[in-house]
Amino acid sequence: MRLSSKVVIATFILIFILAGYQIWIDQNQPESKPIAEVVLEDSVQNYEPVIFYGINIDSLEVVRNKIKSKQHLSDILTPYNVSKEDIYNLSLSAKGIFDLRKLRVNKPYDLLIKEDSLPQAKAMIYYHNDIDYVVFHMGDSIFVEKGAKEIVVKEQSTTGIINSSLSATISEMGLSPILTNELADVFAWQIDFFRLYPGDRFKVIYEEQLVEGKSIGISAIKAAIFEHNGYENFAYFYNQGTSIDYFDEEGKSLRKAFLKYPVQFSRISSRYSGSRYHPVQKRYKAHRGTDFAAPRGTPIRSVGEGTVVAAQYGKYNGNYVKIRHNSIYTTQYLHMSKIASGMKPGTHVKQGQTIGYVGATGLARGNHVCYRFWKSGYQVDALKVKLPSSEPIKEEMMEDFVHVAANLKEQLNAISYPIQKTTASIGGAK
Ligand SMILES: [Zn+2]
Repeated sequence: MRLSSKVVIATFILIFILAGYQIWIDQNQPESKPIAEVVLEDSVQNYEPVIFYGINIDSLEVVRNKIKSKQHLSDILTPYNVSKEDIYNLSLSAKGIFDLRKLRVNKPYDLLIKEDSLPQAKAMIYYHNDIDYVVFHMGDSIFVEKGAKEIVVKEQSTTGIINSSLSATISEMGLSPILTNELADVFAWQIDFFRLYPGDRFKVIYEEQLVEGKSIGISAIKAAIFEHNGYENFAYFYNQGTSIDYFDEEGKSLRKAFLKYPVQFSRISSRYSGSRYHPVQKRYKAHRGTDFAAPRGTPIRSVGEGTVVAAQYGKYNGNYVKIRHNSIYTTQYLHMSKIASGMKPGTHVKQGQTIGYVGATGLARGNHVCYRFWKSGYQVDALKVKLPSSEPIKEEMMEDFVHVAANLKEQLNAISYPIQKTTASIGGAK
């Protein structure tokens, strides 16, 4: 065979290979899809007007703005060619519905504008808050009406592991701080939320209120487990008619009652008040306590279980003891003739335990105990504050409660704890 013949054959083979390769490529190319067919819908049949707060806005433009400082209704509407007469009629119609002086700075409003040769406002919707609004109609008729957006209650659940504080954990999770407070309230007696442990974890089922898909608050925690220092605390929400409360699995109230008074057989010599004439200082000043007059030496008892945070002498308070009951409640007892033995910061006291004896030490005239009460850091009137109830589930309600709690427990069990983070630190306030 001559060289030229070999070249010709080789060339043919090469052509075959290339052609075969091209066919292979073509076959493996993704199929080009036909361009989606444009279906023309019957625009008349499927026509749905766009309704915004009861107003057809098909031919209107919606402009969102915020109330500026010292801005009146007329300042907003006049540039949109609403006549003085119409504004006056709006103010008449608003009477008894909405006080026009109550347009608040930075509150949002929407203007519904018809763009003709001149833009003309046909309506204005002013939003007081997340729910309530007022509509000013300037279309065919001039009138004002108020309305409220629908609140949707949705059951939600969440779980978390404490790294630093409950509030930090909850905010890291992008949840409402209201949930922190609610959860701390539910377990106020079981868990000291100022002293959580890293690795403490919780699961909670709660009802959230939503307006237009946005959370506006938590209406109730329905059930929760809070594992604190390795111990599981359960809370089940239950309404047994007389009180709505949280109970453990055995139907015991999570809340422990306080004794109403720190001494027995006494009389109230001075009540809590914003202003009273001080018998020793001889001037008017607030009295943020309740005085119980009693003979010197009468035992003073702790109104609830707790931990002593102070047991000492003070120039004004005399001998006094201060007890922290949980992250919400703290009580203090002043003017003792003597502090009971063993009382020092860190001492655990039981409800009713004697912590000292009535006297008149410090700035006091006559033997009495001045009883002071703090709730969430604020001094309140111990005799007026609504004390937490400790009523257990009633016998006749027990069967129903057990059923409700079992269902809630099943729901809690269905939630998985998150994977624990490695970084952890102790402490942190709620
Ligand atoms: Zn007092």
